[in-house]
Amino acid sequence: MPTVRKLLEKINIGAGFEGELRYDEPMSLHTTFRVGGPADAWYRPSGDRSVEAMAILLKAARDEGVPVFMLGGGANIVVADRGIRGVVLDTTGWTGCSFTDSSVLVRSGTDVDSAADACAERSLGGLDFLAGMPGTVGGAVWMNARCYGSSVSDVLQETEILDEDFRRVPVPFDPAAFSYKRSPFQDRRVLIVSASFRLLPRSADALREAMRLHRADREAKGHYRLPSAGSSFKNDYAYGKPTGAVVDGLGLRGLRLGGAQVADWHGNIIVNTGNARATDIRGLARLVADRVREAAGLELETEMLYVGDWDEDEA
Ligand SMILES: Cc1cc2nc3c(=O)[nH]c(=O)nc-3n(C[C@H](O)[C@H](O)[C@H](O)COP(=O)(O)OP(=O)(O)OC[C@H]3O[C@@H](n4cnc5c(N)ncnc54)[C@H](O)[C@@H]3O)c2cc1C
Repeated sequence: MPTVRKLLEKINIGAGFEGELRYDEPMSLHTTFRVGGPADAWYRPSGDRSVEAMAILLKAARDEGVPVFMLGGGANIVVADRGIRGVVLDTTGWTGCSFTDSSVLVRSGTDVDSAADACAERSLGGLDFLAGMPGTVGGAVWMNARCYGSSVSDVLQETEILDEDFRRVPVPFDPAAFSYKRSPFQDRRVLIVSASFRLLPRSADALREAMRLHRADREAKGHYRLPSAGSSFKNDYAYGKPTGAVVDGLGLRGLRLGGAQVADWHGNIIVNTGNARATDIRGLARLVADRVREAAGLELETEMLYVGDWDEDEA
């Protein structure tokens, strides 16, 4: 902890940089699961010069051996009860879209739902499939998020990153580098700064109606009923049915561990019933995976990401 504070004081973060800085920030405030202990330091940069400032921060952190975790909307992560050591760089202060006739450049901290709205307002389709999905554009690119038959990689044109040498560089879209819920950024330690997407002219009314249906479908499926990270496990098309149906088929809906529960309305959503700890969620996911392996011989792959300072036993 002293190293983190010293590092941030040395580079004058908080005073010289625009944005918000807090020490011992509860990560439960920044995750859709509403769990997670304190981050040693949490920093949300804002302002036009802050990407360059982040290059300074990331380089100093690497030189001092301080880990930095890039946070989007916290919609796909389970942060350990002991929190996160080092610095959490919260990108949600970087928002905004700029348009050409056939594409949009979106800053990484913009939430995907409002990016979809901004496109629809200009009668441009492409991001509408993401309406209602929690999280940021940076997180959606990193995860290659997928819903309603489309993946982010279907519309991605270019990603701008701070690379491993802290240079701000464009990464042209390479279809071979993306697959189901996989992006090349998962194998790198980079900060996604913005992304541009291909758009097509469409009637604003048709787009608004399509987005209304997506949001209503999520509402009906109970996505927003209790805190969660959406799907707990990836789908594996080789199983012949969605993971939720596999879990349902084994009667595991409603299974509880502490404050975590397999939603009693959806087999592939673990929810926080109010007082869950991160260990409850992770333990319950393990229990479900064990039951599915024993009963059906299938190996579930967790979709939500375990982040932070986990105990050996918990992990
Ligand atoms: C109710 C609900 C429904 C959901 N439905 C879906 C769905 O239909 N389809 C789907 O695919 N997902 C779904 N999810 C999961 C989640 O919305 C997506 O995975 C989303 O893309 C995560 O984005 P985020 O900004 O919250 O990322 P986070 O959870 O904050 O981070 C996820 C990963 O991305 C990295 N990351 C985030 N931003 C950056 C950045 N700027 N630079 C570098 N790395 C970064 C983080 O380090 C982390 O490793 C759902 C979640 C919820 C809560």
